[in-house]
Amino acid sequence: MQHSRDTNPALYDVVVVGAGFSGLYMLHKLREFGFRVRGFEAATGVGGTWFWNRYPGARCDIDSFDYSYGFSEEVQQEWVWTETNASQPEIEAYLNFVADKLDLRRDITFGTKVVGLRYNESDFRWTLYTEAGEDFNSTFVVAATGCLSVPIEHRICDEEAFGGTTLFTNRFPAEGFDFAGKRVAVVGTGSSGVQVIPVLAEVASHLYVFQRSAAYTLPAFTRKISAEEVADVKATYADLRLRQKRHPAGAARPVGPVVPPPTRRIVDASAEELRSATMEYGWGVTRMWTDVLTNLDANDIAKQLYAELIRQVVDDPEVAASLVPTDLLGCKRQVYDNGYFTTFNRDNVTLVDLRKGGIEKVVATGIQTAQGTFEVDVIVYATGFDAMTGALRKIDVRGRGGLSLRELWEAKGPLTYLGLQVAGFPNLFLVTGPGSPSVLSNMVASIEQHVEWIADCLVYLRDGGYRSIEATEEAQDKWVDHVATQVEGRVSAEQSCASWYLGANVPGKKRVFMPYAGGLHVYREKCDDVVTGGYQGFALDA
Ligand code: FAD
Ligand code: NAP
Repeated sequence: MQHSRDTNPALYDVVVVGAGFSGLYMLHKLREFGFRVRGFEAATGVGGTWFWNRYPGARCDIDSFDYSYGFSEEVQQEWVWTETNASQPEIEAYLNFVADKLDLRRDITFGTKVVGLRYNESDFRWTLYTEAGEDFNSTFVVAATGCLSVPIEHRICDEEAFGGTTLFTNRFPAEGFDFAGKRVAVVGTGSSGVQVIPVLAEVASHLYVFQRSAAYTLPAFTRKISAEEVADVKATYADLRLRQKRHPAGAARPVGPVVPPPTRRIVDASAEELRSATMEYGWGVTRMWTDVLTNLDANDIAKQLYAELIRQVVDDPEVAASLVPTDLLGCKRQVYDNGYFTTFNRDNVTLVDLRKGGIEKVVATGIQTAQGTFEVDVIVYATGFDAMTGALRKIDVRGRGGLSLRELWEAKGPLTYLGLQVAGFPNLFLVTGPGSPSVLSNMVASIEQHVEWIADCLVYLRDGGYRSIEATEEAQDKWVDHVATQVEGRVSAEQSCASWYLGANVPGKKRVFMPYAGGLHVYREKCDDVVTGGYQGFALDA
């Protein structure tokens, strides 16, 4: 049901923006609890991340069983994962399966971008404005808009100037693209670049990899899952979900190199010990120490071990040297790959190390750098996202007294209470907002926890006859301080670190470490305590 501005705008109890993992479960849960709810989604289908990021090689880097909903026994028993790090088509199919199974589509308006949200203090309601000029009223709004859903806009990408095809990993065409026999450039070597590069190298006539910062990537060791393993996990799902709840990152099954739990400092290890640990644990050797992420000397030793591993795998010493990262190890998000470094041993792959001369501009025939022009038929940008706050920065969100969320966050950083609400914006909930474990955890586990917390809160408000809920500034300030203390002394908060966790990939964005690093298990308890204390830190209005 849609209404134009001329008629009475539709009134919902809750509007959910986004139809990825977060929005789908939120919609289901609220409907189950009897709320009048509507979803709005910019895409033409469900899936969120897994709708937009259809590039070849895209997969999750969390184990597939972990990276799936645990709320429905029926769903987890019916669905069959075929690989340990499921591919994008498989995850997108899974989310479509869930949407069908729970009959969610009928309550989602697709192809509809939300551009404005305005809180009306007189009637405790939000008005939602769409790009098409429609508006809708709702008592509550849940922003299930994603942490990594807004591609960054950068000056080098000039689609008009380039005579070939321009593609983006994070809005890849649904029909795919035939790279066979083409000269292809990939710009960016974060998680997306590292996944797409080995796959494109197999089909392109020549692949040029434009690398500004080299990636710390570990082998994902992706493998097929046997029927026996599927049966085994299905028989013990309850145990897996319990282990997820107790795990700091909400992940029960390991991915990548498995190492013993860290108990020793790398700075205390002798050269001989480091050599034998490298022999035994390979790429895992950097993860088996207590001090690598907190002590710069320790970090440096681990970096040297990592560099040596690259030199062992990459044939050309000059290429190997270019692939060695110079950032602090652990500054940016861990990347996982399947055959990344060996790709650079192929004759049809050229690494363009932008540290030796950066990109100047895109020209009709390719990419012009300070090192010369590289002629290509296709450019694939794998250049990342305006993370965590990007989606809400794109919407003109106006709270109490016309307060702009965009302006507030630009001036003061991404203030939130528990990553769930922002003071000044009553009845607006964020799923995995800044200040929550979100991107430092298995996101699906974090999403389930947030969705369930929000749904329970709305039931509490309904049962208690409350019309609004709003984080207090005092609770928010304390939480923001607490979030900051969690990264004190860690390399990821170092000034030299230019990660998207800090917003450093977006010019002008205030540098604040955005996710909560205290662990999902700890955070879960804190959220539960808030509820037990009668929604401590929130003001409820009857
Ligand atoms: P999203 O999936 O981002 O969905 C948000 C939706 O909101 C989108 O569909 C978007 O179109 C819609 N939306 C946003 N703004 C508006 C608006 N104004 N109007 C209408 N609609 C709007 N996390 C992990 O834990 N493990 C992984 O292995 C992993 N792999 C990833 C791989 C890639 C390539 C990327 C990009 C991210 C990955 N992530 C991973 C993070 C991933 O984003 C989350 O795991 C999860 O999918 C987020 O779900 P979501 O529903 O919260 O957000
Ligand atoms: P990203 O990690 O931000 O990487 C972007 C890459 O593009 C970086 O190498 C960056 O270099 C480079 N870049 C950006 N602007 C550039 C420019 N103007 N010129 C040259 N290079 C430029 O983005 P992403 O790879 O899309 O990943 C984002 C996040 O999504 C990940 O961290 C992860 O959370 C999630 N993800 C997960 C997976 C997975 O394995 N499951 C896959 C993809 C994405 P600098 O580092 O120098 O800025």
